[in-house]
Amino acid sequence: MNIIVLMKQVPDTAEVRIDPVSNTLVREGVPSIINPFDENAIEEGIRLVEKHGGRCTVLTMGPPQAEEALRRALAMGADEAVHVCGREFAGADTWATSYTLAQAIRQLGEFDLIICGKQTFEGDTAQVGPGVAEQLGIAQATYAIEVQIEGRKMRVKRVLEDRYETLEVRLPALISVVKQINEPRHPRLKNVMAAKKKPITVWGVDDLDARPNLIGLAGSPTSVVRIFAPERHHKGEIIEGETPVVVDKLIEKLRQLEAV
Ligand SMILES: Cc1cc2nc3c(=O)[nH]c(=O)nc-3n(C[C@H](O)[C@H](O)[C@H](O)COP(=O)(O)OP(=O)(O)OC[C@H]3O[C@@H](n4cnc5c(N)ncnc54)[C@H](O)[C@@H]3O)c2cc1C
Repeated sequence: MNIIVLMKQVPDTAEVRIDPVSNTLVREGVPSIINPFDENAIEEGIRLVEKHGGRCTVLTMGPPQAEEALRRALAMGADEAVHVCGREFAGADTWATSYTLAQAIRQLGEFDLIICGKQTFEGDTAQVGPGVAEQLGIAQATYAIEVQIEGRKMRVKRVLEDRYETLEVRLPALISVVKQINEPRHPRLKNVMAAKKKPITVWGVDDLDARPNLIGLAGSPTSVVRIFAPERHHKGEIIEGETPVVVDKLIEKLRQLEAV
């Protein structure tokens, strides 16, 4: 099994600071972590390789400090790490991110399965996984809570809002995983130390077969115009009770407001 895991490093804080000029996140001095859903994606990749053999490669597009997150993935047990890095890739929206990652995956060669997290704790769009699958023209199954592989067939149990759904998908394919799929392992100290010396492949804009007008800010059809914390409104009122009673009370309230 040749598995590629897409991993993003995100700020380890809810209190993100926004650069008012560039409208991008201030990363300097902010502790970073592997995006939590991507820890599950890495764990699932390692488990499938332990079960079926093969290799697990972790791929990220990110600033230089993302190397730290790649080394943690290697310490968890990933076999290889690839870092797409360079100012030309900065400011990418989900389209440009998907395109760049798809080009990097093409360059990595043959693969059987791509695993990504359900979404990041940063842009939070859940668009990159499906975007990469679309760029590569492969099948996708999102919100996976269970994965079984037999030969070239994969059974994926998905979590939907009100039920589960099981799909059968032909490999190669892409899945996005939810937190409940597994419990990520904590790397042992000796593996953390060993991972510090492991080689990481770094690809800059000259190493990647990607069209300059399709990467980074230049290649992004969407741009974040303004990021701001929404105003806090005064607390609303909770109307307790059985539905019919609640509805009556609500209508009464609305009438009173209308009369004001
Ligand atoms: C506050 C904020 C709002 C934003 N809003 C938008 C928006 O509305 N539209 C838009 O197009 N862009 C937006 N962006 C930019 C967007 O965050 C980036 O494009 C980002 O690279 C990917 O989007 P995401 O974080 O939503 O990822 P998601 O689509 O939520 O990520 C899903 C999975 O894809 C993989 N993945 C995502 N990014 C990478 C990466 N760089 N390297 C490797 N794997 C990765 C991970 O496995 C991740 O779990 C926003 C950014 C911020 C900070």
